[in-house]
Amino acid sequence: MAKKKKEKKPIKKPRYSLYQDGKTENRSCPKCGSGFLLAEHSNRRVCGKCRYVEMKSSKKTE
Ligand SMILES: [Zn+2]
Repeated sequence: MAKKKKEKKPIKKPRYSLYQDGKTENRSCPKCGSGFLLAEHSNRRVCGKCRYVEMKSSKKTE
């Protein structure tokens, strides 16, 4: 009986976090969880997996 010990891997920071400096904010989908980033559109963010849409409520464009 040899049980394999699960070692905790050190958390690696993803490369794309480099341009997460406040201006370009990559929001992850609240439904799918982190790792599923919402696609940036002009006035909204859309999840490519579950079609979750998040409106950007900074300005009204109507
Ligand atoms: Zn999603």
